[in-house]
Amino acid sequence: MANSINRRSWIKSTAILAGGTAFFSGAISTLAAVPKRIQQTFLNDRLADQAAILEATPVMKARLLANENPFGPSVNVKKAIQEALDSSYQYPFMHMKELTGKIAAYEGVPESSILMDAGSSPLLLASAMFYGRNGSEIITGDPSYSSLPSDAELLGAKWVKVPLTAEYKMDLDAMEAKITNKTGLVYICNPNNPTGTVLDTEKLKAFCERVSRKVPVFVDEAYIDYLPDPQAASMISMVKAGSNIIVARTFSKLYGFAGLRCGYVIAQPDTLKDLMKYSVGNMSISAPTVAAAIAGYQEKDFLKDALKKTLASKEFLYSVLTKEGYDYIPSSANFVMFPIRMEGARFAKEMSNRGVGIRFWKFNDKDWCRVSIGKMEEMQLFADAFKQIS
Ligand code: PLP
Repeated sequence: MANSINRRSWIKSTAILAGGTAFFSGAISTLAAVPKRIQQTFLNDRLADQAAILEATPVMKARLLANENPFGPSVNVKKAIQEALDSSYQYPFMHMKELTGKIAAYEGVPESSILMDAGSSPLLLASAMFYGRNGSEIITGDPSYSSLPSDAELLGAKWVKVPLTAEYKMDLDAMEAKITNKTGLVYICNPNNPTGTVLDTEKLKAFCERVSRKVPVFVDEAYIDYLPDPQAASMISMVKAGSNIIVARTFSKLYGFAGLRCGYVIAQPDTLKDLMKYSVGNMSISAPTVAAAIAGYQEKDFLKDALKKTLASKEFLYSVLTKEGYDYIPSSANFVMFPIRMEGARFAKEMSNRGVGIRFWKFNDKDWCRVSIGKMEEMQLFADAFKQIS
């Protein structure tokens, strides 16, 4: 098992961490010399979520800006966290192995194909560092989740942005046409954040099959659990078939673990060896989080119930937007994007003044709001505030 925890790999990961720290302090110290435009990309989606939360009104009554699941974590998960506290002076080696084993069994992959970390963000960063090195090109849709490419750009890579199609989906043909001998990685977010659109599974599989023979493809499946059949839509089958695909998953969304921090990638074992050079891996995850993930992984009733409530809140939001005469992009995830009739920052401020946190974007010469799906009472607060300013 490539990522099993034993003393040797612990020492190795500590050494890697030291190397990584040196790498980072070097990268950060060069930040001052980096042009302003590139410095600004450091304010990527992750940090933009944080910034939006920190800047929001102190009385945020509806927290609809970070695509979290307010219905989680489940009762069993909370109980497992409580029980894990007594033994949390211990490193969670055995439990980590149990969790990796559970994921491997469910997905039908060997444990050597799984690399875990404290959320998928550290693994996106490791991929940015590895695939963006030597000034390589990272191809992404635009707009899409910018964490990986913006970190890569900060470290010297070139971010190649390919506009979405008229249906706000990833333009796979146009992305493929951008591949050159300098391409380090193609990044696909499916379903896509911030548009909530999903690609046709067979089309994406064919793309991955073809493209991964030339360059690795990173498929970020953070929101895949919101689809009716996540396993059928996942590109993990392509990893199993031997393709050079990296699939990222997180417990932060439907599982409701955003504050607990647990995620993983599934890829070829040799690919994981490359990413492990830039990731702390298992050692980043706390014992209570590991216990929580073991208790919550594939907890069918909880997942089904959270999904049902999310869909009900989303339908309510659609009806509010329609009644107010607004279009929206039909979403396959726990957020919805729609064009607004006001400058984005002003819209966000007006909503924030009414206790509602949302995010805004500008693309296709329009201002857009992305609203995360919350509890029904939060959606009602959104509706009340929106009606006042729309
Ligand atoms: N990938 C996508 C597409 C996301 O939207 C997010 C967070 O919003 C992440 C990855 C990071 O998630 P985490 O680090 O919590 O696993």
